[in-house]
Amino acid sequence: MALNLFTVGLNLLKKSSLSQGKRHFSSIGFVGLGNMGNYMANNLIKKGHKIVVYDVNRSALTNLVEAGAKEASSAAELSKNSQMVITMLPTNDHVWESYTGNDGLLSTAEKNTLFVDSSTIDPSVSQKVHQEATKKGAKFIDGPVSGGVVGARDGTLTFMVGGEKEQYDRAKPILEAMGTRIVHCGDVGMGQVAKLCNNMLLAISMIGVSEVVNLADRLGLDPKVMTSILNTSTGRCWSSEVYPPVPGIIDTVPSSNNYEGGFLTHLMTKDLGLAQAAATRSSTPIPLGSLAHQVYRMLMTHGHANRDFSIIYQYLKNCKV
Ligand code: NAD
Repeated sequence: MALNLFTVGLNLLKKSSLSQGKRHFSSIGFVGLGNMGNYMANNLIKKGHKIVVYDVNRSALTNLVEAGAKEASSAAELSKNSQMVITMLPTNDHVWESYTGNDGLLSTAEKNTLFVDSSTIDPSVSQKVHQEATKKGAKFIDGPVSGGVVGARDGTLTFMVGGEKEQYDRAKPILEAMGTRIVHCGDVGMGQVAKLCNNMLLAISMIGVSEVVNLADRLGLDPKVMTSILNTSTGRCWSSEVYPPVPGIIDTVPSSNNYEGGFLTHLMTKDLGLAQAAATRSSTPIPLGSLAHQVYRMLMTHGHANRDFSIIYQYLKNCKV
């Protein structure tokens, strides 16, 4: 009985936070319906939100239009018809152009329209877009995500949000349709800072695990045994335990599936480049981050751009004198 009352209460609470989101945002725009954005927009539809979509590649949004989304013919048209807009675009240049270009989002933005950029980009670009949005009376926050394509599909992303707390509060009920953790990191750009720092450490730890396991292998120790030793010793980390680069330890990770899918090397290289640029601008020493950037650039030149970033293990394994 008590449990039933609790469930009813919880459902009412969920409904009220959705209707609050709906009351504030009768229409939500979504720009950039690629690997991540498509699943994210689909989750908004599934949770009952009305959305308008735009992508330069029209074939990217066919499934969403079939599921009930409206298609806009340009970013400007989408912005005119949305009270909240989420963008999920590849790089700095795409984001800048999409917001500030001639037919861009800000050209038609209404006062108080809330823009959330979930792309992974340079924090300084987020801050510049925020300045441009402010000139129009619109609101802008950055909200990059972690959790990859699987998190986007399952609605379990983590959003790292930078911007005014009031705007974070406005966005939160909507972001909860796509993610399970919505973290306010600080001022605008701080979501990007959190994202870049995390990914830099991930690259360093993946290279580190691959390096030691390969050394152990060369010295005659089975790489699977070495990985299991790491996982009960002080060298243990996410790259050794949850996402090992050695094939055959965990069936579901990319290393056991020919390094297909997962987090692609070209995206990791992009994020390391962004971390490098931010570190240079702030005169911050990042010796291992810089080295990791060069290692991943090397992997790109060896044709591994579209393989999972744990392929570094195979690359080191194949380096022979
Ligand atoms: P993607 O290349 O699959 O999708 C980007 C989409 O944006 C494409 O459909 C493209 O046509 C569209 N686009 C490009 N320019 C546009 C413009 N001016 N107007 C409208 N649409 C435009 O990229 P993705 O994998 O979805 O990643 C998007 C962002 O999310 C990137 O910044 C990436 O670093 C970040 N991210 C990706 C992952 C991942 O695992 N894929 C995980 C976390 C974060």
